[in-house]
Amino acid sequence: MRLSRYFLPVLKESPKEAEIVSHKLMLRAGMIKQQAAGSYSWLPLGFKVLNKVIKIIEEEQDRSGAVQLLMPTVQSADLWRESGRYDAYGKEMLRIVDRHERDMLYGPTNEEMITDIFRTYVRSYKDLPLNLYHIQWKFRDEVRPRFGTMRSREFLMKDAYSFDLDEAASQRAFQRMFVAYLRTFYRLGVVGIPMRADAGPIGGDMSYEFQVLADTGESAVFLHKDLIGKPIPAIDTDFRGDLSPIFKDWTSLFAATDEMTDEAAFKAAVPEDKQVAARGIEVGHIFYFGTKYSKPMKAAVTGPDGKDVIVHMGSYGIGPTRLVPAIIEASHDDAGIVWPVSVAPFEVVLINLKAGDAATDAACETLYGELNAAGLDVLYDDRDQPAGAKFATADLIGVPYQLILGPRGLKEGQAEIKHRKTGDRETLPLATAVDRLRTLVEPQRRDKV
Ligand code: ATP
Ligand code: MG
Repeated sequence: MRLSRYFLPVLKESPKEAEIVSHKLMLRAGMIKQQAAGSYSWLPLGFKVLNKVIKIIEEEQDRSGAVQLLMPTVQSADLWRESGRYDAYGKEMLRIVDRHERDMLYGPTNEEMITDIFRTYVRSYKDLPLNLYHIQWKFRDEVRPRFGTMRSREFLMKDAYSFDLDEAASQRAFQRMFVAYLRTFYRLGVVGIPMRADAGPIGGDMSYEFQVLADTGESAVFLHKDLIGKPIPAIDTDFRGDLSPIFKDWTSLFAATDEMTDEAAFKAAVPEDKQVAARGIEVGHIFYFGTKYSKPMKAAVTGPDGKDVIVHMGSYGIGPTRLVPAIIEASHDDAGIVWPVSVAPFEVVLINLKAGDAATDAACETLYGELNAAGLDVLYDDRDQPAGAKFATADLIGVPYQLILGPRGLKEGQAEIKHRKTGDRETLPLATAVDRLRTLVEPQRRDKV
C-alpha cells in the first residue's frame, strides 16, 4: 500500500473525549470514527487490524472443529418469547417494530436463533457433537458505552454454540473451545488468561472468562504467576482426543476475577511469591448451560435407544472489536501503538526519506516490489513530507519494522531497520534488507505454532 494513495486520517492532538490510552491511540491513528454514542466506523487502518484478528479467530475455531455460518442481525421477537428472554432481557435490548407492526429486535446474542436452526435440521444423536459459530454484529444498549470500541453498543462478536447428547459430551465441547481460546489469544499476541467466572444472565454451571491483563482493565483479577507465559497447546493438538489433561493443567492454577473470589481467598490459595493481583479486560467468555434453551425450544435428537433426548448446549463468545483496543492497552508506549506482528496493520513500513529524489524513489520502488514479492505486508511512505513527520506516523500506527532509506544510505548501499518495539536500529546492505525482514517477521506471525 502506498501511503500517498491510502486513507489514514491521523490526528496530531490527543482527543479530549478519550479516557484510556487505546481509545486515544485508535482515534489518533485514524483507526475509528465515532458515529453516535457507542457506535463506530472502522477506518481502513482499523479495519485491517480487525480483519487480521477475525482471521485468527476463524482459523482456531475451524481447527477445533467448529463450523461457521452467518445469522442475521435483526431477529424476530417470537423466538425470544419461546425462551422467555424477550421480557427478561430488559433495556439492553434494542427493540424494533417493522411496518407490519411485528416486534423485532437487533440481536444482542444468538442462542435462540441457533437453537431454532438446530431443531429444524438435526434429528439424530449421530449428528453430534456439533458446534456452529458466526461472527456478526451485536447491539446491546449499554447504559454507559465507553472507552471507544472497548464497550460500544454496536460491536462484533464471534459466538459459537455447541450441541451434545449429555453433560459429559458437553464438557468435552467446552474443553475444545477452552483450548481453541488459549491458542487464539496467544496467536493474537496477548496474554489471555482463563478465569473462573460468573455465568451472568445467560446462566449455567460452568463458565470461564478470558482476561487480557492491562492496567486499565475493568475487572480486578487474581492469578498464579505461572499462568503468564505458560506454553499453549501446540498446532498439532488433537481436538478429537481427550483434552481434559490440558484443561486440568490450566485450571488447577488459581485465576479468578473479583466477582468470584477475594484477596483473602487468593492469598490463602497461592504461595506469596506466585501471587499476581492485576487488572483484566474480558475478551472472551465460555459457558456451559445445559438445556436452558433446548428445553423450552424443544431441541431434541433421537438417542441411541430410539428415545428423544433434549440436547445440552454451551455458548462461547469472543469480542473482536474489543480485542483491538485490548491489544493496544497491553502493547503501546509514549510514541504510539506497538502491534504484535500477527495483527499489525502492516508488518513493515518502508520510509523514503527524500521522496522526489529520483535515485531514492527508484531504489524505494525496487524495495517495495521486493518486499511485496517476499509476502510481507508493506506500507510504503512515499509522501513528500519531512522525515520527522514520517517517523512520528510510523511510530504512532505501530508498524513493527521500519525500513528506512535516504540518499545518503543509498550512496553507501545501506538501509536501516528500526524495530518499533525495542527501538533497536540496524544498518545493513540494501541487498540483504528484504531477507532480514522476512527472517524477523515470519516467526512472529505465530501462524505455525
Ligand atoms: P461485559 O461483562 O464486559 O459487559 P458480557 O459478559 O456482557 O461483557 P458476553 O455476553 O460474555 O459479554 O459477550 C462475549 C464477548 O463479547 C465478551 O467477552 C466481549 O469480548 C464482547 N463484548 C460484550 N459486550 C461488549 C461491548 N459492549 N462492546 C464490545 N465487546 C463486547
Ligand atoms: Mg461475559
